[in-house]
Amino acid sequence: MKKYKAIFFDWDGTAVVNRKAPVEKTVDAMRKLLSSGVYLFVISGTTYSNIGDGNIEKRFTNEQLKFLFFGLARGSHNFGFDNNGRLVTIEDYGIERDTVLKIHDVAYDIHRTLFLDYGYNTDIVFDRPNYVKIDIMTASSRMTNMYLSGNEIDDIKKNLKKHGYNEGLAGLIKLAKETGQKHGLNIKATCDAKYLEVGVLDKSDNVDAFIRHVLVPNGISMKECCFWGDEYLELDSGITGSDSFMYTEMSKDGDFFDVGTVPGIRPEYVEYLGGSVDTFLHFLDDQSKLWCEK
Ligand SMILES: [Mg+2]
Repeated sequence: MKKYKAIFFDWDGTAVVNRKAPVEKTVDAMRKLLSSGVYLFVISGTTYSNIGDGNIEKRFTNEQLKFLFFGLARGSHNFGFDNNGRLVTIEDYGIERDTVLKIHDVAYDIHRTLFLDYGYNTDIVFDRPNYVKIDIMTASSRMTNMYLSGNEIDDIKKNLKKHGYNEGLAGLIKLAKETGQKHGLNIKATCDAKYLEVGVLDKSDNVDAFIRHVLVPNGISMKECCFWGDEYLELDSGITGSDSFMYTEMSKDGDFFDVGTVPGIRPEYVEYLGGSVDTFLHFLDDQSKLWCEK
């Protein structure tokens, strides 16, 4: 197996089963690699308070924290740590308040279109940084597992059809982009069968920020990097899951792995492994062994 100098990975459904699950096993595997000087980048749609107990840095030494980074909230936050182990921003894209308001307008406009034209009701979560979550499956609650599971994709497509909306998830992404244009915004939209997320950034912005600010200055090439997630799956024609946004013009020479458990089509650049969190933690352990052998 290849020895990687940098590992990018999703959190929910890849590194931990869910937000409430114990993080000890994951943190243990991470510590060993960080001590060997392997860069770890958590790339997640969630915020820092939802990672572990909200102060996961306390579980690592300051020396280990030099190699640990968090790209969170769909491109909005790019965090690293200073020499004293304090959370610092590596890059801030500087999204203005006016832009955030426009994103809110776009979301409400999408809601209006679906409600007026199809009698389809949505719910909107406005309090996210630089993006909005539109709940397109208000009747189903995900409880603690905040990731794609089971028959969700079929359910949402059926539900949309029942209301006379035949464009599927690809149609919703298109609607989001067109609505954005109306408001003068270049919208980046993702869809996971429960939430249509609308903003001006996504995971690609996290990945590119860390390549520019951490990997390039440290002379690490993409061939020495890998990218792990559980949602690369094609949800609708041409629409792939949120982890596929880690594949960018800058990152494309890296190795991509999917541990998701939902069957379906994945992009050709991804190696499908399945097996969920266990597969990923095994990989981390194997990497630690390789690094200890030297
Ligand atoms: Mg996930």
